[in-house]
Amino acid sequence: MKLDVDVLRYLSKEDFRVLTAVEMGMRNHEIVPSELVDRIASLKHGGTYKVLKNLLKHKLVHHDSSKYDGFRLTYLGYDFLAIKTMVNRGVFASVGRQIGVGKESDIFEVATEDGTILAMKLHRLGRVSFRAVKSKRDYLRHRRSYSWLYLSRLAALKEFAFMKALEDNGFPVPNALDCNRHCVVMSLVQGYPLVQVKELQNPEMVFETIIGLVVRLAEHGLIHCDFNEFNIMIDDDEKVTIIDFPQMVSVSHHNAQMYFDRDVECIYKFFGKRFNLSFEEQADHSEVAEEDAEESSRPSFSSINKTAGFLDKELAASGFTRKDQANMDQVYSLKKAPMRVYYLMMKKMPPT
Ligand code: ADP
Ligand code: MG
Repeated sequence: MKLDVDVLRYLSKEDFRVLTAVEMGMRNHEIVPSELVDRIASLKHGGTYKVLKNLLKHKLVHHDSSKYDGFRLTYLGYDFLAIKTMVNRGVFASVGRQIGVGKESDIFEVATEDGTILAMKLHRLGRVSFRAVKSKRDYLRHRRSYSWLYLSRLAALKEFAFMKALEDNGFPVPNALDCNRHCVVMSLVQGYPLVQVKELQNPEMVFETIIGLVVRLAEHGLIHCDFNEFNIMIDDDEKVTIIDFPQMVSVSHHNAQMYFDRDVECIYKFFGKRFNLSFEEQADHSEVAEEDAEESSRPSFSSINKTAGFLDKELAASGFTRKDQANMDQVYSLKKAPMRVYYLMMKKMPPT
């Protein structure tokens, strides 16, 4: 999706007031009745209707008159609200090129006042998987009902909270800077997703580092659940950074073992195929001491010493509650993430 941020500059205070009114109305309406928008925005002399026309022109809202006259936010409208908030907070000053199209997000470069380039991730839950479970009812009886707005916001909040907690525990992840609505701002990783790397100086070492990270995550009570060549970044010095955390689960999750094994398997498979690592050979012909040889054998979930409670303790303070976690688990359990989807998305990625 094209994010024409120039429009942002032409939007007035009233435009944002009405856009915010639509957002507020969406707390309990999928389509917000025009009168309700007008009531919330309370602009003088029917000003709301004129503003709505302008927002519609810029595709920030969508008009729906199938049941009654009303509006809903588009992703672009939601993007603008988050971007405006970030700019007001001084997190960044401008939005640059798109650097990634994820399975469930769009990633842009943004620049601070002093020219530092950061990464902004806009979550788009509902893009791939969510249509199937979308409620048919117009009126959402529970505020917590699944809507793309709520889920995208929750995904961002979760990602932000996990990224911070991981960083605090010494994991190589981007520096989480701020979060608002469905938007997370983080440091820009200098490197490429592993999927784009054709050659490594030291593939064995990179492999050991990555497997070591899966194990260390589990020791801290966490499983990434989408650990693959798309979510591992690598720089020119072959330093590894992990990204993409909204689907992480606790080691106490009922499918933890399966998720852990799947993450490990992904890495083994990729390194075997791309860098011709042969794992049996490594164990057989290795002349290193016994305990080292053991280290290079495939990690087993049951033998990892897991520190229970990491999730609860460290994430409780972040505003990401147990209930939020339960809701997210449910969303992610609704779908499988076949690698095919990643490779399909990659074709849509703009040239960098
Ligand atoms: P999704 O959840 O949609 O898969 P990701 O977080 O994996 O989104 O990001 C998609 C792509 O955007 C990544 O594969 C990577 O190329 C790029 N990207 C994401 N975060 C960063 C970052 N902090 N720095 C640089 N590139 C990033
Ligand atoms: Mg990803």
